[in-house]
Amino acid sequence: MNRSHIVRGFYAFALLLLATLVAAQEPPQNQPTVWSAKPGIAAFETVENGRIAAAQKLIDQIVAVKGPRTIESTLVPYDEAVRQLNAAAYFADLVQKVNPDAAFRDRGTAMSVKVSGVATSLSLNRDVYQALSALDVSKSDPATRYYVQRQLLEFRLAGVDKDDATRAKLKKLQDQLTEDQAMFDRNISDDQRSVTVSSASELDGLPQDYIENHKPGTDGKITLTTNYPDLFPVMEYAKSDALRRKMWEAWNTRAYPKNRAVLIDMMQTRYQIATLIGYSSWADYDAADKMMQDGSNIAKFIADLNSAARPVAEREFAILLAEKQKTDPKATEIYSYEGYRLRELVRRSQYDFNSESVRPYLPYPQVKKGVLDTAATLFHVTFRQELTAPSWDPAVETWDVIDNGKMIGRFYLDMHPRPGKYSHAQMAPILDGIRGKQLPEAILICNFAQPTATDPGLMDYGDAVTFFHEFGHLMHHILGGQQQWAGISGISMESDFVEAPSQMLEEWMKSPQVLATFARNYKTGEPIPAELVARMNRASAFGRANGVSTQNALSAISYDLYKDDPAKIDVDAVCPHDFRQYTLYVPIPSDAHMYASFGHLAGYSSHYYTYMWDKVIAEDFFQQFDHNNLLAGEAPMRYRRTVLEPGGSMSANDLVKNFLGRPQSTAAFQKWMEEEFQPAPQINGARAVEQ
Ligand SMILES: [Zn+2]
Repeated sequence: MNRSHIVRGFYAFALLLLATLVAAQEPPQNQPTVWSAKPGIAAFETVENGRIAAAQKLIDQIVAVKGPRTIESTLVPYDEAVRQLNAAAYFADLVQKVNPDAAFRDRGTAMSVKVSGVATSLSLNRDVYQALSALDVSKSDPATRYYVQRQLLEFRLAGVDKDDATRAKLKKLQDQLTEDQAMFDRNISDDQRSVTVSSASELDGLPQDYIENHKPGTDGKITLTTNYPDLFPVMEYAKSDALRRKMWEAWNTRAYPKNRAVLIDMMQTRYQIATLIGYSSWADYDAADKMMQDGSNIAKFIADLNSAARPVAEREFAILLAEKQKTDPKATEIYSYEGYRLRELVRRSQYDFNSESVRPYLPYPQVKKGVLDTAATLFHVTFRQELTAPSWDPAVETWDVIDNGKMIGRFYLDMHPRPGKYSHAQMAPILDGIRGKQLPEAILICNFAQPTATDPGLMDYGDAVTFFHEFGHLMHHILGGQQQWAGISGISMESDFVEAPSQMLEEWMKSPQVLATFARNYKTGEPIPAELVARMNRASAFGRANGVSTQNALSAISYDLYKDDPAKIDVDAVCPHDFRQYTLYVPIPSDAHMYASFGHLAGYSSHYYTYMWDKVIAEDFFQQFDHNNLLAGEAPMRYRRTVLEPGGSMSANDLVKNFLGRPQSTAAFQKWMEEEFQPAPQINGARAVEQ
């Protein structure tokens, strides 16, 4: 992402566009659809260029104002420019990630670069900066005051107050960075790898439906791709060590060596930007507008988390190693790729739990309904499917969000893999919500196995959790998208807070009461037994500290690559070092190159720590809910009002304090991490596992 949150460089927008360029006229009742037909490249570019031109005109208008600076003369057109540029950025990103046509995706990438360039120019526009600085906001509401103050900070971080030559240099560097980021992402999504096996016997241990979905080709060979629905079952269930290792290597070397040079270039470009602005590293610079504040706090957080996780991780490791020794008595080490499999075996042997036993209760259509119904109850909204809205693929669904009989937003579900599609799971904004002017829109881009006439589309439990996670982001964007200004709408806020609402929602997937409402056996219709959920929760608590350690290693990789002058950093040494430093697993040689497919190094750069930082907050938040009935009580509505609805209209630290009545603490997180070693709860019904 471009530095300027002035334009949060992300995703997508719409096609009824030319009309929408008269922005202020967009009535919420008449929300344009994201994809009014199968648009051609020319139509896409017309819309995008129209939005860019509209933004530029508004910027000129701000600069030309004579007389005193007012909200009306300055902030209103400024925010409208932000709205136009965000919409253009969102749309370009959407095209790049989901368009079925590769040539179209390329044009999406090119357009992303172009829009970011305009955003960068705006962030370096001294006249606009001075105009906003001259605004008297002393009589404005707190959200408007906070917005202006945040924008001024972002302008300074962009280097707006530097001399002309430095600003010109910064502009060039930002454009270079944008191109590198887009290239880094594209290289990953374009590099879908596959592993071939010579017979079905090599798939021994995998679920029957998996084997049936992977029939040999005419040459008798079976092809497995590195897409999630192919990959993760192999990593957990395949008996063949060689197959799991091959799949892991294929997965971990995607975009290598291509992305090595791109990464080094990104590191150098970012370092130059940071030092030109006056920071000693990119990590320091990047943290300046976040909850974390500076790089040393990142290092401290990683060290603290390591101290907290290590003793628990060692207890888990002893159990994992004992499991490995059952078949390899001399083993003293566990390789990185073995973690999934050993954890699964321990869950079976020690916790009498087999992940496969849950899958029959999780066919995709039911999970989808379950996620929607749960979110509707929790957040006091309803969802209505738009059956006639056109989209870019027949599998894409359009849904409206209704609050008290009023439509307050729209979202799209693009949930199954296609060749060339973005291969990870993500919520992406499509439109920022602005009160009375434009409804928020967003999309979930996921890659879950697609149900067919003969295949119920059974999901892994982890995939179902991912669905809840992404839906947490979606509700944040929609419910937080009722602001006066585009620039503080939805998730336009400190980016190291945004993973808290999504991670908190994952907890709902552990509730037997919530699961019983939708997790039904696809053959018999029988609801998932509370006893099975209880065993699953016990089993899934096992391995958490090692999971935290792995996440901490990734946080360290993301920090270490950006914490210093890149001339002093050997990119091929960072991953092995940090895996050894923070995890108990031994990396295999190909792990040294996993940075090439670590997509966050482009968009998140040094703030991958966000996930664990926000997990701490999420667990703290979760304690506020009634664990005997997660959908009832006053907490859900209080959470909606104090955490989600404010969007980016106040600091994240204030959101946390407003909901908790105090700053966050790590106590709940520590307890969550150690849950596996707590005495087993009585397994006699729904409540037992909710303690
Ligand atoms: Zn997330």
